Amino acid sequence: MDFSFTPEQLALRAELVKFARRELNEGLADRDRSHAFSREGWSRCAAMGILGLPFPKEYGGSDADVLTTLLAMEALGYGCRDSGLIFAMNAQMWAVQTPIWNFGTDEQKRRYLPRLCAGQSIGAHGMSEPDSGSDSSALATTATRRGDRWILKGTKTFVTNAPIADVFVVFATTDRSRGFMGLTGFVFEKGVKGLRIGNPIEKMGLRTSPMAELIFEDCELPSDALLGREGGGAEVFSSSMEWERGCLLASYLGAMEHQLETCVEYARTRRQFQRPIGKFQSVANKLVDMKVRLETSRLLLYRLAWLKTAGREAVTDAAIAKLYLSESWVQSCLDAIQVHGGYGYMSEFGFERDLRDSIAGRIYSGTSEIQRNIIATQLGL
Ligand SMILES: Cc1cc2nc3c(=O)[nH]c(=O)nc-3n(C[C@H](O)[C@H](O)[C@H](O)COP(=O)(O)OP(=O)(O)OC[C@H]3O[C@@H](n4cnc5c(N)ncnc54)[C@H](O)[C@@H]3O)c2cc1C
Repeated sequence: MDFSFTPEQLALRAELVKFARRELNEGLADRDRSHAFSREGWSRCAAMGILGLPFPKEYGGSDADVLTTLLAMEALGYGCRDSGLIFAMNAQMWAVQTPIWNFGTDEQKRRYLPRLCAGQSIGAHGMSEPDSGSDSSALATTATRRGDRWILKGTKTFVTNAPIADVFVVFATTDRSRGFMGLTGFVFEKGVKGLRIGNPIEKMGLRTSPMAELIFEDCELPSDALLGREGGGAEVFSSSMEWERGCLLASYLGAMEHQLETCVEYARTRRQFQRPIGKFQSVANKLVDMKVRLETSRLLLYRLAWLKTAGREAVTDAAIAKLYLSESWVQSCLDAIQVHGGYGYMSEFGFERDLRDSIAGRIYSGTSEIQRNIIATQLGL
């Protein structure tokens, strides 16, 4: 395994860090307080080519390989403090664009991908329901054929980007007797008859990424809204989760690195008892543990990229990376607050926002408990 980067990859990383610092952070504290999404930040990221990174050039992307994509998302996580904006982009890239790219017809790719890559359209992904979260075999939303149409009935909840989305990828059951294997994916645009977007849902963190319910009241979809084959939803969903679990985490790496640097600087300069607090071993050990978690996370994620590049199956590796990185990010946020003492607790310094944002990582894209179940199954338990 060779994880060294080319000069071009390193130049891209440096450029993106500079861009993110300059263009994405202004006004963040206010946006966080008012739950406001930055459409401007979204457009700027699109103009930098972020939304199109791994997608084919013919559909508006850049054809970047997996490692370059991870590196770019890592750079964004390092330079951009608006984790909600990054999360909203990730939600679109891995759970909307990727399934269209991998399972869509040529017509669907041509219709949706260029606009999504260019930031002109925003995508949302609806799987979770009020009574079906971790257990995706229990979906209550149904899709039935009526003439040349599909009729969707049911409610999707916790849908990131729903209040601002133009394009939706949604899963419904077409054969309840087959549970998870009876799901089917659909892709369609806002404005279809019978689709209602619920009120925005307020969250503990990631407040700059909007969220709402999708309510399907005898919602009529054209026959070409089918994504993949009828009954092929499990495959579509699982493949996008593998991408999402890997790539979503890359921005955590950058964020952890940035946070560690900030903490080291503080521990060197903040003095108590006539010496820098970093000279107290119990403070230094927190920074050491942050560093060990960061480097372990990095290895897990780069190995995952290597497996994906080699076209190898990576379900367990993605679960290990998701579990370890999301838990590490929460712990690093707690350590950063502790190292900064009272200042760490005050909103002005942003550490409490990071902590609130980080906790979502234990829940979305499969909870930590579900990742452990995946790994346990692999162990034969
Ligand atoms: C910020 C955020 C953004 C999200 N964005 C989206 C989105 O865009 N689209 C979308 O479809 N969904 C989205 N979700 C929903 C997310 O995928 C679900 O919250 C998640 O899958 C868990 O489902 P649940 O909330 O219903 O919890 P439940 O499944 O009810 O779980 C409750 C608790 O029980 C545990 N548990 C459940 N089953 C098991 C088991 N078998 N073994 C051990 N423990 C178990 C869970 O780990 C958890 O601790 C988002 C969630 C968050 C927090």
